[in-house]
Amino acid sequence: GSLTVAELAEKLTKSTSEIIKKLMGLGVMATKNEELDKTSIELIAHDFGVEVEEEEVIDELDIERYEEADDPEDLQERAPVVTIMGHVDHGKTTLLDGIRKTKVTDTEAGGITQHIGAYQVEEDGKRVTFLDTPGHAAFTTMRARGAQATDITILVVAADDGVMPQTVEALNHAKAAEVPIIVAVNKTDKENANPDRVMQELTEYELVPEAWGGDTIFVNVSAVNGGGIDELLEMILLVAEIEELKANPSKRAQGTVVEAELDRGRGPVATLLVQGGTLKVGDPIVVGYTYGRVRAMMSDVGLRVTEAGPSTPVEVTGLNGVPQAGDQFLVFADEKKAKQIGEGRAIRAKEAQRKQTSRVSLDDLYNQIQEGEIKEINLIIKADVQGSVEAVRGSLEKIDVAGVKVNVIHTGVGAVTESDVILASASNAIIIGFNVRPGTNAKQTAESENVDVRLYRVIYNAIEEIEAAMKGLLDPEY
Ligand code: GDP
Repeated sequence: GSLTVAELAEKLTKSTSEIIKKLMGLGVMATKNEELDKTSIELIAHDFGVEVEEEEVIDELDIERYEEADDPEDLQERAPVVTIMGHVDHGKTTLLDGIRKTKVTDTEAGGITQHIGAYQVEEDGKRVTFLDTPGHAAFTTMRARGAQATDITILVVAADDGVMPQTVEALNHAKAAEVPIIVAVNKTDKENANPDRVMQELTEYELVPEAWGGDTIFVNVSAVNGGGIDELLEMILLVAEIEELKANPSKRAQGTVVEAELDRGRGPVATLLVQGGTLKVGDPIVVGYTYGRVRAMMSDVGLRVTEAGPSTPVEVTGLNGVPQAGDQFLVFADEKKAKQIGEGRAIRAKEAQRKQTSRVSLDDLYNQIQEGEIKEINLIIKADVQGSVEAVRGSLEKIDVAGVKVNVIHTGVGAVTESDVILASASNAIIIGFNVRPGTNAKQTAESENVDVRLYRVIYNAIEEIEAAMKGLLDPEY
């Protein structure tokens, strides 16, 4: 960690002027609020005969640090975790309900279907886990918080409507996350359904069916009458097999929060997706910035369970607060450790909120390129007409300064939306808008997420400015 001159003085029980003098001796001119780097701190401390011992800082749920290493022999096949995305009204919710209705296993019939944010079904004796919040906002919000919970994305496209703006948004979100896509062409029961048109339109986005020489799986379904659902599940299992999804069930559990809320009677309630290990009742646990001991666990069919293995969603109680979707969780050996880490994280989260981590921005681009922090500049382009989108994209993608490439991860016609901002935040991208403005929500989110949104009226200005920023020639804005 770093310290200011005054803080260092306090630690060494010296006066700030003594520290400043020593710094001058090192050729560093500093004021008392100046932050010192590690080397200077060590040098000065050494000068005063003190050796620096770094405090253990657990800045995030450093899973790698605490997680037990997996013995390859312990790895077992696990169920794929699937998210459904697509344009509004194309049938995401109906499909999720349809799959659940037709597939929930008989053995669990004792339970009552609970909406805990995720559910599991069985096909050919194998399990598939669905995240029950359709739409890419949830998916990308989770990803923005560092969670990679989805293994496969189902892109739902209505056969009577074809590819629409949110279809494109969804597929770009999935691509940015490098999650394989299966296309479910829905509403094929309708008279005016035209699945071929959907295939044709999606080829523009590099989703080419196998029949046409590509490698994207397309399945025709009808969410209302259940047609094609079996085939869809089989395809999911096929992709899962190719991906060789494995996890070690025989260790302390770790995973991601799917959703959480404060229940009047039960207190904080969180649906956790176990990604590794096995979660057990009584486990001491840190969940995001909260902690506790797992008091009770409930499955997606409302049954009390005592254990949950990899890819299983369970609703847990026993936390001291309400975590957020996308937060990571980790089980610890003893409750004291869990409490210490949970409390430490809560304090640091507040500090971090004050400081606000900086993301990529045009003003700082040159420095970040110089420091090797970025090799690619991710951009999202929004414009009032498709022609402008294409023109800007074409010109920007040609820019190459010092081997740093411009990478357009999403484009669209219309205002800058909150979803664009969340995608930018998750992918560390800058948003470029032409003759469009961000809506109020988008603006607020951009501010809180520190996303750089640049608005232009003239294409040439944008290209010039980005090129200048990459070369370090941009006049800083004050
Ligand atoms: P979402 O916004 O993507 O979640 O879409 P919904 O699941 O709410 O579906 C929107 C509308 O399309 C509803 O009226 C559904 O009943 C209807 N719908 C969904 N799937 C199908 C389908 O396969 N066939 C037909 N005919 N209608 C469907």
